[in-house]
Amino acid sequence: CGITACVGGDDAVGGLLTGLGNLEYRGYDSAGIAVQNGRGLSVVKREGRLARLREALGTDRPTGSIGIGHTRWSTHGPPTDENAHPHQDCTGNVAVVHNGIIDNYETLRQNLEERGHRFESETDTEVVPHLIEEELTAGASMESAFRTAVSKLSGSYAIACMVDGEDVVYAARQGSPLVLGEADGRFFLASDVPAFREFTDRVVYLEDGDVVAVRPDGYDITDLAGAPLLREVDTVDWEP
Ligand code: GLU
Repeated sequence: CGITACVGGDDAVGGLLTGLGNLEYRGYDSAGIAVQNGRGLSVVKREGRLARLREALGTDRPTGSIGIGHTRWSTHGPPTDENAHPHQDCTGNVAVVHNGIIDNYETLRQNLEERGHRFESETDTEVVPHLIEEELTAGASMESAFRTAVSKLSGSYAIACMVDGEDVVYAARQGSPLVLGEADGRFFLASDVPAFREFTDRVVYLEDGDVVAVRPDGYDITDLAGAPLLREVDTVDWEP
């Protein structure tokens, strides 16, 4: 199981699929991606091997420079197309991938359902896009909506998300690994460094409590409250 994100360049889908292929060793039962294509979010996800996702994407792949991807090892809800990530909110404008377990999802889901949210999966993860949607509807910026949503979660997570029309991937981690890769004109996020080994050897290891906003021209790392953090860029030696 693992997450990936690709920001910048002209082939997010290619970058995401390469990343997901490199994370195969972690084991998974479903895979999916979401891409900003300029006319909304394209979300494609399938239960099963990466080959099934590639097949579903076909030769007419969505184009775009920003996307998120996921390989799922199910903990809440069986492996099905509906339970595969990314998960979305009611409007379809927000897409989220998550690695880990949200311990308090039952209470969060119940409260969201009482406020009219309809869920399409049995996962713990789906509360996240709905929490973000509530904040956006109340007028918050995506960055502040993401911080508020994440601060309501307890458990373990590496989460990446995006909203339609904004060229940014927001991500956070607590108890699940998350690394950032810095290539020329392109950034990557992943659960483990080998995900982007074809693209760069420059990595930033994010720490628990970190929130990162990744744009095609750079990134900001902050704590949950929004205070800036400095994290070193390491160079990975890919040779054994
Ligand atoms: N708990 C989430 C689910 O069951 C994420 C599992 C994972 O880490 O792949 O969908």
